[in-house]
Amino acid sequence: MIPSLRRYGNQLIGMPTPIGHALGGIAAGTLIGGAAETDGDRSRLVRWLALLAVLGMLPDADFLVGAHREASHSVGAVLLVVGGGVLVVPRQPRIWAATGAAYLTHVVLDWLGTDTVAPFGLMALWPIDTAFYMSSVELFHPVCRQYWLVGCWASLGRAVAVELAVIGPFAAVGLVRTGLRRRRSRDRSG
Ligand SMILES: [Zn+2]
Repeated sequence: MIPSLRRYGNQLIGMPTPIGHALGGIAAGTLIGGAAETDGDRSRLVRWLALLAVLGMLPDADFLVGAHREASHSVGAVLLVVGGGVLVVPRQPRIWAATGAAYLTHVVLDWLGTDTVAPFGLMALWPIDTAFYMSSVELFHPVCRQYWLVGCWASLGRAVAVELAVIGPFAAVGLVRTGLRRRRSRDRSG
């Protein structure tokens, strides 16, 4: 067990931070969807990136309904997001795939995380299966919520550093590719 886990016990919550999840959404969404249909427009591009970040973080909104890491953290929920895309933008399969992938990163990253609260893991295969799944990798550190403790901030800093090191490069490649595409489409229209 990680020493900080022993120290903080149930004050720790598993899984990546919202920063890691936002980066994951942006990474997958831009690698698959690039600048989407933003046509070189800066404010549309910012809204697209914000949407990807929100989709990366969205499954944790289940905290609000007290059903954490259940149906919202599953491939079934990913399919619902894709279905929503089909309804909203019927002729944009790249956007369906990019938004679905942004949401899926949350499920995958949580699966690779460290869980300290039972039931451990997530209901990844809902609605086919309601069992909780957890990888044994524990790649991402648990997140301390006792923000008034110095040691808590140190553990939070370590958690974010690992997320930036693992997810950051993918997000950087996605953003650079998106920027290049935006420039090309601006050159075409200019
Ligand atoms: Zn989560």
